[in-house]
Amino acid sequence: MSTFEERMQKLMAEKEERESIRCPWCGAKKENDDQQYPVSYWGSEDGPASMECGSCEKEFFVKEVVSREYVVGKDEVSAA
Ligand SMILES: [Zn+2]
Repeated sequence: MSTFEERMQKLMAEKEERESIRCPWCGAKKENDDQQYPVSYWGSEDGPASMECGSCEKEFFVKEVVSREYVVGKDEVSAA
């Protein structure tokens, strides 16, 4: 049994994990402190971007995947 807040925290943690980059060599999380994550909708070149792990210094490749969601309602309020 978990409270609503616990479930929300778990969902937020899962969302953060999905939106973060982990080194495939050592598993270290790549911090996005300098906004270094590849963002394809800014019009960057297609194809995986090369990154270097700050922990083990090995090179790996990252491709951004963007998903789209729609909220549908019978009126403006329920679709907001
Ligand atoms: Zn690494």
